[in-house]
Amino acid sequence: MNRLHIDWTACDGRGLCTELLPELLVEDDWGYPAARTGGDLTVPVALAGEAREAVSRCPALALRLVRAEG
Ligand code: SF4
Repeated sequence: MNRLHIDWTACDGRGLCTELLPELLVEDDWGYPAARTGGDLTVPVALAGEAREAVSRCPALALRLVRAEG
């Protein structure tokens, strides 16, 4: 499985990714994405397509998928 990595130096906090991946991400009080469940951004296989779409549509190129350890 992959994990979603967010580059906080690039993210501009407009929240598109939280709309594309609501099962994984919520918007915090400032509009930045946060993990829905306790900081874990491991992407379930069932959400792999949505995660790839979020990566490709992030306007700040702040998202990428990295191989989860284990
Ligand atoms: S879509 Fe990209 S720039 Fe927008 S909130 Fe998500 S990570 Fe940040």
